[in-house]
Amino acid sequence: RKLGYAIVGLGSYATRQIMPRLKDCEFAKLAALVSGTPEKLERYGAEYGIPKTHRYSYANYDSIRDNPDIDLVYVVLPNSMHAEYSIRASQAGKHVLCEKPMAVSAAECEVMIAAAKKAGKKLMIGYRCHFEPYNLRGIELVKSGFVGRPRVITSEHGFNAQPNQWRLDRPLSGGGSMMDIGIYSLNAARYLAGEEPIEVSAMESTDRKDPRFRNVEDQIDWQMRFPSGALASCVSSYSSNHNAWRVVGTDGWVGMEPATGYDGHQMWTRKGGKTEQVTLPAPPKNQFVAQLDHLAECAMNGREPIVSGEEGLRDMRLIEAIYRSAREGKAVRMTAA
Ligand code: NAD
Repeated sequence: RKLGYAIVGLGSYATRQIMPRLKDCEFAKLAALVSGTPEKLERYGAEYGIPKTHRYSYANYDSIRDNPDIDLVYVVLPNSMHAEYSIRASQAGKHVLCEKPMAVSAAECEVMIAAAKKAGKKLMIGYRCHFEPYNLRGIELVKSGFVGRPRVITSEHGFNAQPNQWRLDRPLSGGGSMMDIGIYSLNAARYLAGEEPIEVSAMESTDRKDPRFRNVEDQIDWQMRFPSGALASCVSSYSSNHNAWRVVGTDGWVGMEPATGYDGHQMWTRKGGKTEQVTLPAPPKNQFVAQLDHLAECAMNGREPIVSGEEGLRDMRLIEAIYRSAREGKAVRMTAA
């Protein structure tokens, strides 16, 4: 049988990107909805044929434990709610897929990992680029030595943030552009390097007079040093548009722009004086479907998700180091966890 997802939080990403894709899954289906807004439960419940018995509020959320049709819980809430709702899902005996950023601190990530472990259930983070064919090809090209020895990675992500939203409210977001979009720069630099940074150095630029940035950062850029000697330069911005990465090695480069969006990916390589565009066939499952199926498969086969809670924790430790470096104005060395 297909495993059933409960979707927690019926906002933009859940309703526009995730719920419509579940019908294309091989191993998963939509089984239940969780929302604080009765009208949304009614509207989406009717649209997706979810019976009233499978519609939950945040108040009776814990009773999902008694619903055998729910195997998996997908937490798509504002960042500061990720930990609580993931932990409660683990305690209800469900596997968890939690959106990025995993939580708002490394300490919270550790509690989430412990809760899933104690329940004997899987915990996966919504890093969809790990299921996106062009990004996977990029990883493969670097790994296979196409660019030679990687020396310079650039990874830039940003957009112009609209005012008046939870992303600009620190108690809900946990931080500014870094938490929301800069995390793509960070995660891409790490998956492309194929190794873990040993040092970070960051600088922030925020106009505190801009009403959007009263308590979260706008731009934060940072560098990372990898054990091989490769360096990454990363951008995170809430006031300029970026969506690109490039890995330059001793023999050539591979790059993408747009790199990590929902669609429209474009990739180029350069080697021996020749620049070429890489075009891949449409995959049988797009990144959303592949991600949703992956947790279901892991739950069925007892395997660890390729983007586990530990992966989310690694990013969160680095985000904390990036913030610290910007605050203190000096490089931060990463210590082994
Ligand atoms: P959104 O604002 O559209 O949705 C958030 C939902 O949470 C809304 O339905 C809202 O009603 C609900 N909510 C519950 N309590 C709330 C509270 N106290 N304040 C505000 N909202 C509350 O946001 P979104 O864009 O859907 O983002 C949700 C999560 O998904 C975030 O963690 C975000 O980082 C992540 N996300 C991931 C991707 C991706 O590509 N992986 C894309 C977009 C968003």
